[in-house]
Amino acid sequence: MTSMQPKPTTNDAGIPVASDDHSLTVGPDGPILLQDHYLIEQMANFNRERIPERQPHAKGAGAFGSFEVTNDVSAHTKAAVFQPGARTEALIRFSTVAGEQGSPDTWRDPRGFSLRLYTAAGNLDLVGNNTPVFFMRDPLKFQHFIRSQKRRADSGLRDNDMQWDFWTLSPESAHMVTWLMGDRGIPRTWRHMNGYSSHTYSWLNAAGELSWVKYHFISDQGIECLTQAEADELAGKDGDYHRRDLFEAIRRGEYPSWTLKVQIMPFEDAKTYRFNPFDLTKVWPHGDYPLHEVGRLTLDRNVSDFHTEMEQAAFEPNNQVPGTGLSPDKMLLARGFSYADAHRARLGVNYKQIPVNSPKVEVHSYSKDGVMRIRNASDPVYAPNSYGGPQADPVIAAEVRWSADGEMVRQAYALRRDDDDWGQAGTLVREVLDDAARDRLVSNIAGHLLGGVSEPVLERSFQYWKNVDQPLGERVEKAVRDGRS
Ligand code: NDP
Repeated sequence: MTSMQPKPTTNDAGIPVASDDHSLTVGPDGPILLQDHYLIEQMANFNRERIPERQPHAKGAGAFGSFEVTNDVSAHTKAAVFQPGARTEALIRFSTVAGEQGSPDTWRDPRGFSLRLYTAAGNLDLVGNNTPVFFMRDPLKFQHFIRSQKRRADSGLRDNDMQWDFWTLSPESAHMVTWLMGDRGIPRTWRHMNGYSSHTYSWLNAAGELSWVKYHFISDQGIECLTQAEADELAGKDGDYHRRDLFEAIRRGEYPSWTLKVQIMPFEDAKTYRFNPFDLTKVWPHGDYPLHEVGRLTLDRNVSDFHTEMEQAAFEPNNQVPGTGLSPDKMLLARGFSYADAHRARLGVNYKQIPVNSPKVEVHSYSKDGVMRIRNASDPVYAPNSYGGPQADPVIAAEVRWSADGEMVRQAYALRRDDDDWGQAGTLVREVLDDAARDRLVSNIAGHLLGGVSEPVLERSFQYWKNVDQPLGERVEKAVRDGRS
């Protein structure tokens, strides 16, 4: 039957090739000939197969699906993607932060939760984590933080001492480190964790009113976590445990879903709220700003080409659409630059022309040329012009945003009434965790500290935890001292 006939091998120019097995030589035992272009193409392509891995969030995977609006939030945003009845194609990528491409999925680490919605007004990207907070609030520290979590210069080894040195000298990390050392620091699967925007974003409604929002994607599968012992065992047995779980669940037709809820803060509240609402190390307590349901994200299609659909997927939080926007969060504003810049470095300046990154709407930009431009450009190639080229929308220019004024300074955020580095971490320990979860927290912290942390970092670590919660810190210190004796 012809349908069973294999297709003829071609080279990359589509020309049929002579052999899958043998190079072109002078006689069967003779030297290889330079004009064996197919051999050369195969070797050259192979040598260039890898692209730089992401720095950080190198190890990850994801899937396609859709986002469906289930509740009316049109009073708060005019974004087409969040209007009642809207259904939008989605792409998600989950990841660990510190590990490289081949690292185990079950290391204790935050998980990236990068979502793209291919909306009717262009791509909306929400590049979050499975944690509602982060380790720092000023982007100048981010690069140092990641280096402290990755590998030493001398031995090329990861180093707990380096990690704790950075954390304990950066007390704003306490809330996030408490999260990380707790049960949720190792999700059972990507399906069993929440995703949070972590940052505060803005929404704009049709009346031109701006409000502040935090996105929470609550797992419909429920929260499930791995113990440190389970995770350690899996790291040895199946480094791709989370990647495999997601792929196989979707292949079985078990489509994971998340309910999107948002916290909404009226624009004016932000000026006087007791916490700085743009500080990435803080949550907005639910008692102050409850969750409002928006819709459901469902993943139902696996990638069919990991390289083009995952390795080249380029999410960036600056991809905001009319009705959604950034906020004065310094970390978010920096990410608005750095993500796109990372993609230019990894994938080339025309990375948005790679199909997985292309919006589903027509693009009429004035960007032109550069490496790997594949979309045809057309004249006029400049604006303003007299020849019918695209024109910007003055309505968008007139939209309200926040205002800013002041001297140019290098300073921390001004403290609000309830702002400090330890308070919300302490609330998590005392009011959210139960006794068993606190026991596991002590054990996880002590185990980590026993993994190579030396003085003076060790002593500082005990004080760090006492600042979070005095009894917790005392228990950590005792567990470490007992473990060393
Ligand atoms: P709430 O009691 O209203 O909320 C507590 C939150 O903690 C719930 O969302 C819950 O998630 C989450 N949680 C439960 N167990 C753990 C755990 N082991 N590790 C981390 N989070 C867990 O209190 P508040 O809103 O006043 O917040 C209190 C503390 O809860 C905060 O300091 C913060 O550390 C944490 N938290 C707060 C969130 C927020 O946006 N306000 C979001 C997540 C955590 P769920 O019930 O959804 O599973």
